[in-house]
Amino acid sequence: MADQVEFDTLALRTGIHRSQFGEHSEAMYLTSSFVFQNAAQAAARFTGGEEGNIYSRFTNPTVSAFQERLAALEGAQACVATSSGMSAILAMAMALLKAGDHVLCSASVFGSTVQLFSNILGRFGVETSFVAGADVPAWEGALRSNTKLLFVETPSNPLTEIADIVALAAVAKRAGALLAVDNCFCTPALQKPLQLGADLVIHSATKYLDGQGRVLGGAVLGRRGPVMDGVYGFLRTAGPSLSPFNAWVLLKGLETLRLRMDAQSQSALQLARWLGQHPAVERVYYPGLPSHPQFELAQKQQRLGGAVVSFEVKGGREAAWRVVDATRMISITANLGDTKTTITHPATTTHGRISAEARKAAGINEGLLRVAVGLEALVDIEADLARGLK
Ligand SMILES: *Cc1c(COP(=O)(O)O)cnc(C)c1O
Repeated sequence: MADQVEFDTLALRTGIHRSQFGEHSEAMYLTSSFVFQNAAQAAARFTGGEEGNIYSRFTNPTVSAFQERLAALEGAQACVATSSGMSAILAMAMALLKAGDHVLCSASVFGSTVQLFSNILGRFGVETSFVAGADVPAWEGALRSNTKLLFVETPSNPLTEIADIVALAAVAKRAGALLAVDNCFCTPALQKPLQLGADLVIHSATKYLDGQGRVLGGAVLGRRGPVMDGVYGFLRTAGPSLSPFNAWVLLKGLETLRLRMDAQSQSALQLARWLGQHPAVERVYYPGLPSHPQFELAQKQQRLGGAVVSFEVKGGREAAWRVVDATRMISITANLGDTKTTITHPATTTHGRISAEARKAAGINEGLLRVAVGLEALVDIEADLARGLK
């Protein structure tokens, strides 16, 4: 309970540095550069002899406020904000890997993450192997002497598979590698990977941290060394920095993060139970249901099940598309992490580019639908889905 109060307070009160105007709501510093009092101060800022802002590719007060607040919520020593979730993963990789290194990545990560590791970093001599996220011995078995990074997303998208962060942290430690967890689905309101032994946390702030589908953003968190010397060093030179406007929107998003995650998770659990009893539904995937294969691990690792519910309808693609097309309120969009409920048919959208065999092996069948539950009244969400399930 005490922990909860602390999280809520941190979400509202960390990273506030009032200006001379005494504003109550955080100020937004839309400026690309900062003014020095004289030549000596400019020189001191550049040598690092004096702390202070120089240029917004390096630091900006609104971005710094967001970084401070998110670091407090994740329990991290350091946080570097980036222009998107993908640039957070890119910045981490560019900072911590070099040609000849090997990466182990769970197979069911975000589609662009797979492309980044295999097609882009592969061209620079970084090799990536993919393993089943929940299969700890498979991670252990795929290690090589040059494995430098283990990368995992939990729960996975769209089947909500849970990877054991404590166990993977131990595997990484034995191998002398770092474990990075993409904490997009849970956010620190539900899961704190650093406390479970992960070295780095990645965020697509675009999703639940903003929570209202307004801006792109990302972050890398962890110990000061890898984050500040590594990731920040890359970012200030290469430039995928977060804009101060987006940082301000995200800063305000954090204020309501736990309330939103709790409310959306509660609705998701009830929706999952309702779907589980529906005669037109073959199977439901939700970490908060006792029928989930890793229910106990989820209970231990996450405070709640999260807002994403996937389910397979009887009748394959035709039946699934009927459910999508019968909705009148739920948004048909590939995004998630919004206060507005969204629905996706993974096999023909987010996972449409992979081969039919690979999809089948991954368990993404033609009847599968993914719903990211928002804040609308649950009865209206159920009614919207019930129409197409009839
Ligand atoms: C969306 C997403 C990303 C990429 O984030 P962007 O902000 O779109 O660049 C990375 N990981 C996960 C799990 C995501 O859902």
